[in-house]
Amino acid sequence: MKLKKCPSCSTYTLKDTCPKCKKQTKSAHYKFVKVKDVSQNNN
Ligand SMILES: [Zn+2]
Repeated sequence: MKLKKCPSCSTYTLKDTCPKCKKQTKSAHYKFVKVKDVSQNNN
């Protein structure tokens, strides 16, 4: 199973296109390594 995520509305789907905004989705990884530099969350 390949989980994908829409970069526009952040909707998770299994299809290549977002069911909401019809945009092309990207592969959603379960690891959050790449998110490190995006925002600063110090919880
Ligand atoms: Zn979308």
